[in-house]
Amino acid sequence: MTKALYYEKKFILDSKLLEVRKIDTSYVLILEESIFYPNSGGQLADRGFIDGREIVNVEVENGIIYHFILEKDYQYFKGKEEQLVRLEVDQEARISHSIYHTAQHLISSLVYEDYEANTLSFHMGEEYATIDFDHGDILVESLRLIEKKLWDLIGTGAPITTKTYKTLQDLAGVDLRKQPKFDKNIRLVTIEGYAASPCCGTHLADIRDIRLIKIFKTEKIKKKLRVYYLAGDDAFKDYQKKAEVTNKIANFYTTDPEVLYDKIILENQKFKDLVKKNNLYENKIIATEVKLFLEQKEPVLIWEFKEKNHNPKYLEKVGNLILNQYQEQSKGKIFLLVLNSENKIITISNNEKIKIGDLVRQNVDVFNGKGGGNQLKAQAFFKKNQDMFDFLDSLKVMIQSQI
Ligand SMILES: [Zn+2]
Repeated sequence: MTKALYYEKKFILDSKLLEVRKIDTSYVLILEESIFYPNSGGQLADRGFIDGREIVNVEVENGIIYHFILEKDYQYFKGKEEQLVRLEVDQEARISHSIYHTAQHLISSLVYEDYEANTLSFHMGEEYATIDFDHGDILVESLRLIEKKLWDLIGTGAPITTKTYKTLQDLAGVDLRKQPKFDKNIRLVTIEGYAASPCCGTHLADIRDIRLIKIFKTEKIKKKLRVYYLAGDDAFKDYQKKAEVTNKIANFYTTDPEVLYDKIILENQKFKDLVKKNNLYENKIIATEVKLFLEQKEPVLIWEFKEKNHNPKYLEKVGNLILNQYQEQSKGKIFLLVLNSENKIITISNNEKIKIGDLVRQNVDVFNGKGGGNQLKAQAFFKKNQDMFDFLDSLKVMIQSQI
């Protein structure tokens, strides 16, 4: 058994190294005493150093605390058994963990008292923490109220006490929110004014030290509700970051953050209207262009698209118009539409003798291109512009020889 001293709020300790062990691919230290809090009860393990070497994880099993070290430090500790080593716990990280943990007790207590929802589990991550409640409908609707009440409670403050009871019998008469999982050495944590709950984690002395809780997301998982929150420094930093981003966007739209959402919806609608209008004009222009183009008498027509607004969609519109609306005017003709900027060709055949899909497929490889399609319409892509034009020349000769 390791003598656990992490509840004593000591952050430096010299302790005897008992064993250096390799477990599968991990390397661990076992000490006589430890101030490192291990992964348990949803709370993250402490970070820190032993003899200046990084402790990457801490686990506990059957009362033994395992301090995980890096492989490169294994040799350093090997042979140091029975000697004193120096433990240093990252105090800032521990305080942050205690803030999150205490915040969980406060949220759980409040939600239990006011909304009769039980806490199912608690999970602390590197960036935020989550609590799962057994029913969530009331909570989602009341989230803003809960946050406001948490804010008021933290402002007023309330002491937190922990007490360990030897047996279950000793708990008689204690107001409990949750039944303990163990029947001896039961550690209870109590926020003044609320029922106690069994817990092995590290806490603050007063809820006032939480400073701020921000619930930033909720998620329904079947009947339960997962509440995501930030606490302490993390909540404050998040506010700063979000305010900065909001102000930046508001400045961009030359408006105030309060009316930013409405402004974005309005601007988005304006944009959609413009796109619609633009499409109408574009279709009109395309129709005129196609009409003029079809007045040419040659059987094989090459049309190069070089303008800024000429994109694959534009080409597609031209192709569809020729195929669907100008069948009579285009009868017997072959069209080679060229999008210069993208080395792309759309070919259209309104001549029964020319199976354009076959022609493209059989010859495109020779010019390092890719393509295919049916006998009415086919397309081809090339890596190099020159290859595309060489292909076009060759295709034109082939077509002319077949009509
Ligand atoms: Zn706790």
